[in-house]
Amino acid sequence: MKLPQGKIKVVSLFLFLILAVNFMAAQELRQHVDNPGQTADTAPTGHVPGVPPATIEPAKPGPIGETVVTGNGINYHNGPVMRGNPVNAYIVWYGNWSSTGSNTAATKSLIEHFLGTIGGSNIEKVNTTYGDTIGNVSGNVRFGGSTINTSTANLSDSGVQSVVANALNAGALPRDSNGVYFVLTSSGVSETSGFCTQYCGWHTHATLGGVDIKYSFVGNPDRCPSGCEIQTTGPNSPATGIGGADGMANVMSHELEEAISDPDLNAWFDSSGQENADKCNFNFGATSTCTSTSICSAAGKAAAAKFNQTFGNNDWMLQQNWRNSGGGACAQHL
Ligand SMILES: [Zn+2]
Repeated sequence: MKLPQGKIKVVSLFLFLILAVNFMAAQELRQHVDNPGQTADTAPTGHVPGVPPATIEPAKPGPIGETVVTGNGINYHNGPVMRGNPVNAYIVWYGNWSSTGSNTAATKSLIEHFLGTIGGSNIEKVNTTYGDTIGNVSGNVRFGGSTINTSTANLSDSGVQSVVANALNAGALPRDSNGVYFVLTSSGVSETSGFCTQYCGWHTHATLGGVDIKYSFVGNPDRCPSGCEIQTTGPNSPATGIGGADGMANVMSHELEEAISDPDLNAWFDSSGQENADKCNFNFGATSTCTSTSICSAAGKAAAAKFNQTFGNNDWMLQQNWRNSGGGACAQHL
C-alpha cells in the first residue's frame, strides 16, 4: 500500500513471527486485533514517494572514517541524521490528560522524566552507530519542554501536523530543527489513519515556518493494550492493568531512534524500507522481572512485570534497536 506524503507508517504494534513462535499466548491475544498488517512489518513505501526502493542496494564506502558504515543489514541513502548533542525532545500533550487510568498527570510526569533521562542510556547509545558524511548520532537527548492541547477531537495525519504547527506558531514550543516533537494523545482520542489497527505510532517530517520539523504521533496504548503493549502491567504501572505509560515509553523510544537516524526519511533503512527500530519491532531481548528489590512500582512488582533497561532511577521495558556495527543485530546496548 502506498502511503501518503512520504510518511513512514511505523508499524509498531505487531509481534514478529519470532515472538509469536516463542510466546504463543501473546500472539493469540494480538490476533484479537483486527489488523490487516498483522503479519507484516514490511511496508517499504513511504520513504520516497513514487520511487520504489531498490531491492538490492550496493554497499557504499564510508566517506569519513566509519561515519557511514555498510554491511550491517541496513543501508545509507545519503540523507542527514540528527547529530545534535543533545537532540531536543518536545511533547504536545493532546486530549484529556487529567482523567483516570493512565490519562493522568502521573503519566505526563513519568514520560517527561523518560525523555529527560534516556540520553546516554544503553539503548540510546545503540543509535550512535548511525551517522552521515559529517558525523555520528550523539546518543544524547534532552527534554526540551511540553505544552498541552486540550482538544479531544480525533486526529487525522494532517491533524497531527496541525497540532505541531499550532504549538510552534503560538510560541508554546521553540521552532527547532534539532528537535523531535511528540504528539501524545490520551486514550480517548483516535488517530483515524490507523492507530491501534495499523500502527502504534509513526514519525515523519515537514517544513513548518521554513524549518524542517521532525515529529511523531504516539497514542496512549491503553486504547488497545492487546495490540500496542507487550504487557498490561509494566515496571512503572500505578496499578494493575494500567500499562499505558510504559507502553508509550516503548513506542516513543522506537520513534525517537528512527527520527534521529532517519529524520527526513532518506538516511537509514533497509531494502524492505525498514528503519532501524522497525528491524527490532517488539523484540525486547533478555528481560528481568520486577521483584521486591527492583525499582519497579508496587503494581509492577505484584505483577512480576518485565523490564530490560534501567535509567533515570526507573526500570523500563523498551524494544531493542538495530546495531549498525559488527554485522548488525538487535541490541539493548553496545
Ligand atoms: Zn518504526
